[in-house]
Amino acid sequence: MTIKVHNTLAREKQDFEPIDPKNVRMYVCGPTVYDLAHVGNARPVVVFDTFARLLRYVYGAEHVTYVRNITDVEDKIIEASLKSGEPIESITKRTTQAYHDDMAALGALPPDVEPRATDHIQEMIDMSAKLIEKGHAYEAEGHVLFSVKSMADYGELSRRNREDMIAGARVEVAPYKKDPADFVLWKPSNDEQPGWESPWGKGRPGWHIECSAMSRVHLGETFDIHGGGLDLTFPHHENEIAQSKCCNEKPYVNYWMHNGYVVVNGEKMSKSLGNFFTVRQLLDEGLNGEALRLTLLSGHYRQPLDITREKVTEFKTQLDRFYGAIQAVEKIEASTEEVSEALLDALKDDLNTPLALSVLHDITTQLNKTTDDRKKNRKVIAQLKGQLLAGGKLLGIIQQDPEVWFKGEGDDSQNIEALIAERIEAKKSKDFGRADAIRDELAAQGIELLDSPTGTTWRRK
Ligand SMILES: [Zn+2]
Repeated sequence: MTIKVHNTLAREKQDFEPIDPKNVRMYVCGPTVYDLAHVGNARPVVVFDTFARLLRYVYGAEHVTYVRNITDVEDKIIEASLKSGEPIESITKRTTQAYHDDMAALGALPPDVEPRATDHIQEMIDMSAKLIEKGHAYEAEGHVLFSVKSMADYGELSRRNREDMIAGARVEVAPYKKDPADFVLWKPSNDEQPGWESPWGKGRPGWHIECSAMSRVHLGETFDIHGGGLDLTFPHHENEIAQSKCCNEKPYVNYWMHNGYVVVNGEKMSKSLGNFFTVRQLLDEGLNGEALRLTLLSGHYRQPLDITREKVTEFKTQLDRFYGAIQAVEKIEASTEEVSEALLDALKDDLNTPLALSVLHDITTQLNKTTDDRKKNRKVIAQLKGQLLAGGKLLGIIQQDPEVWFKGEGDDSQNIEALIAERIEAKKSKDFGRADAIRDELAAQGIELLDSPTGTTWRRK
């Protein structure tokens, strides 16, 4: 089965045919680094991380280039700096680091290339100059503006009419604009704002040209996939298309993929509505990063996804089930690294992660059934364990040692082991009161004891 993706440009699911299967190229809009990422910001990261894993599995890791940028020059950053007094460099450095840490906690692998906008200013100036030269942009009062009317097929991605576009872009109708729909490629900077020398004076790029320039440098003028959140379709992605197509005079992107919103009580999670929680916040509250990742993959990526703390806890229990099944057969080596056909087909079908997850549960059920007679079922167990681990890897889950998963890496393990040993002794000498007291004491610390004929093990709840 070939990979199928829903292409926003065509409004339908299409077979994915890369331009060059030896170099499959994907670009995803990265964060503007002025604040901690909220769960809505984390969804595209996890979704496209999973899609990149699929591409690497199908085409070979060395044949995939996944680029996700860092927007480190943007007016929101300037505003944040003015508000808090913290220098811009400090804000961008600190929040980029936090972003890397938080996304790693969600099991997202780093992209192959992570360009920073401030390292590509010259390319943005060059593209803007070229657009002026070709009659698609003009200079006005230190600004460079893209002339929307100069492009006959402007609006092909979002398919909005002109009035909607002007209203939707919420652009200010500035006196230097020839047309209200025109958008900024370059704008002047005063002494407090970051700025670079350009043919139009000291200034800085607009947000849209940043992605056009960075994708061109790292993926070429035409590439396979561009991803991002649904809210970026217009104006951001529409304007990227306009800039790149008019500058390069070539098609820009063949497949556009957009993930749906994270919602809270039915409303889109967003900074402006204030109904957000950051990834950091949830991790600090003790919620598990891998469980949050699984929650983000539990719905189809194009659908809205309601996220609650209860839901994350529920998916932690699902992960316990997977890890528990693997732990039960820890002495049997996995015999395959191949992903089961059913799971692979699910992901190839426009990244159907809920279906893939149900396949993982089926495999786990089968695996749990075989453990009654481990000797007899050795071969099947080795196969199923391998499929569970390989499927998990493709989804970015179940890659920890089950022992570490259940016990954590706390430094109180020695203490716990000592109490368990004391409890065994107490039971031997029929001091059941003491044995129960130890169990209760450990339970109060969130430690669960599992007694079995072969001894006592423990896990953190
Ligand atoms: Zn972008």
